[in-house]
Amino acid sequence: MPEIVPLPVVPDHPELSELRSRALACQACSIAERRTHVVFGEGNPFAPLVLVGEGPGETEDHTGRPFVGRAGKLLDRALGDCGLSRNDVYICNTVKCRACDWEGTKATNRAPTELEALNCRQWLIPQLGLIRPLVILCVGAPSAKNLIKKNFQITKERGKYFPGELAKVMMATLHPAYILRQANISGDGGYSLLVADIDRAWQTALKLRDRAAEQATLQGELEL
Ligand code: SF4
Repeated sequence: MPEIVPLPVVPDHPELSELRSRALACQACSIAERRTHVVFGEGNPFAPLVLVGEGPGETEDHTGRPFVGRAGKLLDRALGDCGLSRNDVYICNTVKCRACDWEGTKATNRAPTELEALNCRQWLIPQLGLIRPLVILCVGAPSAKNLIKKNFQITKERGKYFPGELAKVMMATLHPAYILRQANISGDGGYSLLVADIDRAWQTALKLRDRAAEQATLQGELEL
């Protein structure tokens, strides 16, 4: 079992906590029958940057926390290489329950179906609406296809900005699970791209936050 990083200490966001409580009881898809936990998301609920992956795997299902398996550890490392921790950002998935096929008691991960992804938008969209991030970083192609556009092409469009309704800008990066697979084949598997994308997304989020604060100050002065 991989080592699990401690839960982040975060400020209270009552409306998000309420949404989470309701999501934990969700039975909208058949995968709810054999899940261990609904993996709602975690981190700073007031973060300017939200990272959104596809869905939980085995370790996430067991712990109820997003990105805590091998891929999650790589994501933590990438955040650390940008001078960040889970306390600085918010991390969640488009689908909150582990999608897998069962053979007796043996489960094999599979990609969530379109229906499962569609059903789970009932939690994802209000979740993002309550956090109101300035930048959303989609981690992996399925998340980008769900949130940016259906025909998103990760090889061509990774690292580019797209306008969004749920954040000022949206961008996609490589999934750490993909990087782990690629790293066995050649080089760093794209790890440096993941770090560069997180860093760029974070710097953009900070600039947008500063700009919004300046505009609010100016507005306040004009109304005096
Ligand atoms: S995947 Fe989402 S919509 Fe489906 S049961 Fe789980 S929480 Fe509900």
